[in-house]
Amino acid sequence: MDQKKEDYRYIPTEIRRAVLIEAGHACVIPTCQFPATEFAHIIPFSEVKQHTVDNIVCLCPNHHTMYDILKKIDRKAIRTYKLNLQFLNKRYTVYEMRILRLLSEKMTVVASGEIETMNLLKDGLIYNAKTFETQSINITDNSSGHIIFNDIFVQSFAAKLTEKGKEFIRHWRDEVTDLLNVI
Ligand SMILES: [Zn+2]
Repeated sequence: MDQKKEDYRYIPTEIRRAVLIEAGHACVIPTCQFPATEFAHIIPFSEVKQHTVDNIVCLCPNHHTMYDILKKIDRKAIRTYKLNLQFLNKRYTVYEMRILRLLSEKMTVVASGEIETMNLLKDGLIYNAKTFETQSINITDNSSGHIIFNDIFVQSFAAKLTEKGKEFIRHWRDEVTDLLNVI
């Protein structure tokens, strides 16, 4: 049985949907006019053994064949198309990309705030190694005197790369640097 077909079948629906939405249901090759009907792992499934949005692109059948079978589109090109989409969709802000760029050279950087770095934290690319400043917010109900809202926000923290973040930098470094240089 064709192992590749087996792999696509088991790409979870929510991951397929996220990949399609990211690409606007179009083939990941920017000039291609055909709808995306197939999926490909950038790093082969046999190596990564998991399905993640970051590592999957959607393609039309012709470009899929050119990539996976004929090898006429190389992995770096596909990675660049994928990264362009992520930039296009503004998944990460310029501030977040600058943090990644600094973290490719330093072990840790001071990041300002959970909101500014939300998607890096949410995607598990960085983690909070040490909290420096927090802001607590308490809102009290005037009539009863009870606290109705109580939360602590991290204002600044030491950001470090997770293993996933290191992997991201390793795989995407050239493309990230190229793109950051033009921002
Ligand atoms: Zn195509």
